[in-house]
Amino acid sequence: MTELGLKEIFSSLQGEGIYIGCRQIFVRLTGCNLACRYCDTDFRPTSVCRIETEPGCGRFREVESPLAAVQVSALLQRWQASFPGLHQAITLTGGEPLLQATALAQWLPQLGCELPVHLETNGTLPEQAQALRPWIDFFSIDLKLSSVTGEPTPWKAHRRFLEVCRGKAAQVKIVVAPGLDERELRQAAELAAACLPQTPLILQPVTAEGRPLVPGGQLLSWQTALSRTHPDCRVIPQVHPLLAVF
Ligand code: SF4
Repeated sequence: MTELGLKEIFSSLQGEGIYIGCRQIFVRLTGCNLACRYCDTDFRPTSVCRIETEPGCGRFREVESPLAAVQVSALLQRWQASFPGLHQAITLTGGEPLLQATALAQWLPQLGCELPVHLETNGTLPEQAQALRPWIDFFSIDLKLSSVTGEPTPWKAHRRFLEVCRGKAAQVKIVVAPGLDERELRQAAELAAACLPQTPLILQPVTAEGRPLVPGGQLLSWQTALSRTHPDCRVIPQVHPLLAVF
């Protein structure tokens, strides 16, 4: 029986990137292979996960985790049948969802839900992405800069990952923060432009206490610098804090 290690399932606005404002169902999986300095996500596996009782109501019930994938499918199908037209996509997020690629590869072909499937990933597990590629409609790929995350930048894995995503709908996202190394930022933009030239490159400032930590002038300056490298570089902050939604 296929099981998924889950933290939570809920319905909310997409708060990052080019689908900002779209209503999506978020399936947050447990576990991550990185330890970014700015991370504010609890992805540790626990014996229970929480599931919103109705889309967007903000109330949750606890169920066991890992949870049978068929139960997740049944929930998503029920929400889709009860609230037709509400959701634009199902977003797999984490943590790093690709750590559960084997289970996802068994589950996604049998999901039985009409909605597109989006994947939010740190872009470090290309072989797992390759295995899931047919079932993912949109890849949101982070490039992790060492001057921001405090961990070595996984250049080789990022390159391979972006190559796997050629021909798929995608966005490439770089979280930026004060102290960022601009040479590293340029290198990341060059990589994105070389591998996925038609794909938007998003600069997303780190948020703390509801506000972006990078001044607007600095963001404009980085965007100007990257415009020589990448044809579609956008600055998009997170919007959940502004709207007080999760
Ligand atoms: S990849 Fe994402 S979830 Fe994992 S540590 Fe970094 S910010 Fe947190």
